[in-house]
Amino acid sequence: MAGKTGIACFDSWTVELLKTGYLHNHARMWFASIWIFTLRLPWRLGADFFFRHLLDGDAASNTLSWRWVAGLHTRGRPYVATAKNIATFSVQRFNLKDNDFANVAHGLEATEPDGLPPVLPLRAVNYPLTTRRASCNNF
Ligand SMILES: Cc1cc2nc3c(=O)[nH]c(=O)nc-3n(C[C@H](O)[C@H](O)[C@H](O)COP(=O)(O)OP(=O)(O)OC[C@H]3O[C@@H](n4cnc5c(N)ncnc54)[C@H](O)[C@@H]3O)c2cc1C
Repeated sequence: MAGKTGIACFDSWTVELLKTGYLHNHARMWFASIWIFTLRLPWRLGADFFFRHLLDGDAASNTLSWRWVAGLHTRGRPYVATAKNIATFSVQRFNLKDNDFANVAHGLEATEPDGLPPVLPLRAVNYPLTTRRASCNNF
């Protein structure tokens, strides 16, 4: 959450999210995949981190997107970030090696029983400041 994992792309996206409240859809997918499968952190914690910082944070879209990456919706088909994909779609901004990432064969379906997860209270809605532009100038 401080952007100090040593995985250059991941740390950069963390800082970008904290500073701007935004990440491109691909970066969200890669971030969630690395969080879950490479760093082996709980997906709920990652979803909570996104939800607190995304200007477009949305309980349904965010939660279900994290669950999709984890393979909990499309069971047996997790979304796995690869070095090649990140290098291609970041236009070589991040050149990583395949062994920077987890070798994923299965999603998290075995860790979660069938049925709905417990319902937790949502945080209060934080409306974006219309007087302040989100900026990517520092990247
Ligand atoms: C892990 C993860 C968490 C996410 N959390 C949120 C969230 O909290 N709130 C949220 O609104 N979206 C979320 N998304 C979906 C998506 O990343 C954003 O909707 C999109 O990046 C918004 O960018 P944009 O407004 O520039 O739209 P563009 O990329 O220009 O797309 C145009 C419109 O299409 C819709 N859209 C694009 N990609 C998606 C997608 N994958 N799923 C659903 N709608 C999409 C958006 O409504 C957007 O307004 C998440 C995706 C992932 C992988």
